[in-house]
Formats: sequence, C-alpha cells, structure tokens
Amino acid sequence: MTQHATKHIFVTGGVVSSLGKGLTAASIGLILERRGLRVRMQKLDPYLNVDPGTMSPYQHGEVYVLDDGSETDLDLGHYERFTNGPLSRASNCTTGRIYLNVINKERRGDYLGDTVQVVPHITDEIKACVMSLRGDDVDVVITELGGTVGDIEGLPFLEAIRQIPLQIGKQNCLFIHLTLAPYLKAARELKTKPTQHSVQQLREIGIQPDVLVVRTERDLGAGNAEKIALHCNVETRAVIEEPDKEFSIYEVPLGLVEHGLDELIIEKLNLKAGPLDLTHWSELLHRVRNPQHEVTIAVVGKYMQHKDAYKSIYESLDHAGLAHSTRVLVKRIEAEELQEADPESLLSGVDGLLVPGGFGMRGIEGKIEAITYARKNDIPFFGICLGMQCAVIEFARNVLHLEDANSTEFSSDTGHPVICLLDEQKQVTHKGASMRLGAQNCDLKPGSRAEQTYETSQISERHRHRYEFNPAYRKQFEAAGLIPTGYSPDGGLAEIIEIPDHPWFLAVQFHPEFKSKPPAPHPLFAGFVEAALAHHQQRMQMGV
Ligand code: GLN
Repeated sequence: MTQHATKHIFVTGGVVSSLGKGLTAASIGLILERRGLRVRMQKLDPYLNVDPGTMSPYQHGEVYVLDDGSETDLDLGHYERFTNGPLSRASNCTTGRIYLNVINKERRGDYLGDTVQVVPHITDEIKACVMSLRGDDVDVVITELGGTVGDIEGLPFLEAIRQIPLQIGKQNCLFIHLTLAPYLKAARELKTKPTQHSVQQLREIGIQPDVLVVRTERDLGAGNAEKIALHCNVETRAVIEEPDKEFSIYEVPLGLVEHGLDELIIEKLNLKAGPLDLTHWSELLHRVRNPQHEVTIAVVGKYMQHKDAYKSIYESLDHAGLAHSTRVLVKRIEAEELQEADPESLLSGVDGLLVPGGFGMRGIEGKIEAITYARKNDIPFFGICLGMQCAVIEFARNVLHLEDANSTEFSSDTGHPVICLLDEQKQVTHKGASMRLGAQNCDLKPGSRAEQTYETSQISERHRHRYEFNPAYRKQFEAAGLIPTGYSPDGGLAEIIEIPDHPWFLAVQFHPEFKSKPPAPHPLFAGFVEAALAHHQQRMQMGV
C-alpha cells in the first residue's frame, strides 16, 4: 500500500507518569501494522544522559539493547515485542545526545558566526532526529515523548514537535495525548479536571491534541467523554477510554481497536490501509486466559522490588509459558536474602531458577548459593550474562574445588580468575557505550542442548558485558562436566555453557530476553519453561 508521504504520530503524556505510555504507543503501532501499514517507532527521552546505559535499573528500569549495540529505554522493548519495524540508534534519542550533537557541531565550526541557542539549534536537532525515520518504505512514524507535560526538561521537545506540522503540513501529523481520569472514592466520581488542565498546558505550548487516550479505573461514561471533548477542544469520538488491564497487557491493542482508534487515525491522517487482522493476537489472549498448567520460576536478582528492572526477562517467561499453555508464576528473590537464609526455605517448591544479568558484587554470593541448590537438586537452571558467570564461579568452587574462584570484576587478585576481563576491554577507560554490545554471531556445538533447542547451529544474539569465561580453565571444566557449547565464530569466546548431566542447566553470556516476542517465544526460554513444567509434573507425581 503506497502512501504519498510518511505521516507522524506524536504520543505525549499528562497528569502523572507511569501511565503506560510506552505500551499504548506500542499498541498503536501494532494496530496500524495489523492494518497493513509500515510503522517505525521512536522514543524521545528528556534526560541528560546520552543513553540510559550508565544508569542503575532503579532509575528507569532495565536497559534495552538493540542489534546495533545501542543501549536504550525499556519502552523500545515494548515496541519490538508488539511491532515489526526495525529499531536502531535513531529510535531512541535523549536530551544528552541532542546536546552532544549540537556541541560537537559547534566545536567543528558548523555554526560559525552564529549564537547557538535552544531555539532553533536544539529544536532543529530534535526535529532532524524525528525526520530521520521518514522514508519511502515508511507510512507512519510514531514518536513517544518521555516524561509528563509540564516537566521543564520536556519543553524543547514539545516545542520541536509543535513546529513539525509547519514543516510538513498539519494534515500529516497527529497528536495523541495520554491522560488519567482518577476515581475519587469519597466523591464516588471520576474526575476529568486533571485531563482538562493537562490539555490546557499543551495548548499553551501551541499543541492542540487530536486524540485523547484516557486511562481509567472505572468506566468513563458518555457524559464524561463529552465533557472532556468540550473542554479540551477535541471530537467526542476522539476521546478514547483505556481502562486498567488487570489481566494482561495483550488486551491493550484490542481495547483501542474496540474504541475505533485504528479507524480514527487512518481517517485523520488520510492513510491508505487494509482491513484489520488481529486474529493471531486474539488467539494469544485466549491462551493467556486459559492456561492448562502452572509453574513457579524463582528469579534471583538485585532489584526485585522494581517492577521494570528485569522487564524483558519477565515478558520472555510469559511468552514461553504461552507456548506451553502454562501460566508462569515468578517468585522474585533478593539475592542478598539468600546470603542469610537457608536456600531451602526460599527455593524449595520452585520448578526452575533464573539468574539474570547484572553488575557489581552486591548479591553475588546469594546468586551462587541459589545455583548450588538448583545444580544439586536437579532443578532447571537458566543463567543470563552475570547469571552465566555466577554458574561458572559456583562450579569452579564447589566441583573443581578452586575455593577462591571468582570474577576479576569482584576480586581483582583472586587466585582463580575463572571469569576475566575481555581482551578488547583492557584499554577501555570510559563507561558510556563501551561494553561488548549488540548482535554477535555464535556457533553451537553439534548435539548440544543449545543446538537441539535452537534447532540450528549458528545464531545471533545481543550482548552487553565486559567479562568472559576464562579459556585457560576450559579443559578443567570440561573434564568435570561443565561444557561450553556456544563459541564466537573465531572460537575465542565461550557464549554458552551446559551441564549435560543435569535435567536442564544452561547459561548464556548474551541476552536472549531481548529477542523474544509474544507470538515467537525465544527458544531458550521456551526450552527452560518446558523443563520447568516437566520438573513440576515430576514433583506432583512424587507428592513433593
Ligand atoms: N557484569 C558482567 C560483565 O560486565 C555481566 C554483565 C551483564 O550481566 N549484563 O561482564
């Protein structure tokens, strides 16, 4: 379906943060793709870090890595899981990157003679970033602006997107504003005033939203929709209610379609679209609603109270569960708790153990305790990045009896550095974007569990690390039963390890969670959940 020019949708948020703007933007992308349109997604983040790679997961949740090695906001994970358009460095742009580009240009002399200012130089740079996604093969660019209207740091971004319709025509742009209509128990009423105020703020900046998506705990009702429409100067049919989804995030796109959002966008942007096909999505939801089995997976990490710190891991476990009609219950365990408690008290009754990636030594000994428990009790174990490194340390200490075995990340003078710094990292001094990052190929050992699970012998996965399995210990490990089964194509780096003499013990140096989608679960997650299910069934038969 050829369009005349790329159209733009801007998604902003008002009233409060954490409204699920990323999920709504991804859902809009999904419903437009399901109408045959070619969509590109983008996130603008108004903080000064050049990318989120240097931030703790406590700040904005997990750092999501793309094939090209960009470290990005976790909303890009929603985009990749819900839509199919390619993502790259241009898909996530922060204030830091914008300023860095402008300052580099100034130093190079590109603006020679000019005073360099927020308007027009910063705003032009933001516009260029949005425009860079246009193309003959793109029907719609959806740009989500992080933060909430009213934030000081978001102003240059709002000013830039206000100017875009002047440049490419009002008819080619659509502004969607996401707000909240809270329910006040004492008044027994939904309140529309915060939405009115938030739209007022947008209009003061010069942006008149075309569509309002209103998050609600209770039914909005026709009266409230009309009131919002009147006060906010939008059509009543463009006030789209988005009730809380207790059950599953997969309901969001279906809810938007029910309220006619796909049709409205297509009409307002004059897009040539095909009929809607959401069959596969409805089927997925049916499977979410009707699981046949249930397993409990323990995830042992450092940020268990933060709902988004291991976002892609939790999502990938759900996808894998769907493949086996299984509800996956996650038991979140703080690694440090395992350092004090008996592992049995926290881990008995779980059907699988997953140790995710991470940095720094806090919680390491707890993760190692958990892995010992899984290894000795035949509980399926899946280690990811730091999780693999901990599995190597555990085996070295408890099976090879190298008592002070460690990673040089945690103990620079250990007698047995079974995990050590990558050669390419030895000269690195800066922290930003300097790890081994992004897609790397990996060859799988014939006959290994990895090869059987992937059903292929060459894979590509995304990386984000500085340390590696120390090849000097390889023979010792192999002789004792821990086998590297995936190598970088030059044969230098062990990317996967397995213990064949265990029901399912596999760990990887990369991040498979960044490549799992609801309709296409990652093979390793699917294999792990299948093994957990077998363990569960065995447990039930034995009555333990
Ligand atoms: N800290 C480890 C390293 O840098 C693991 C990184 C990770 O888990 N992403 O190699």
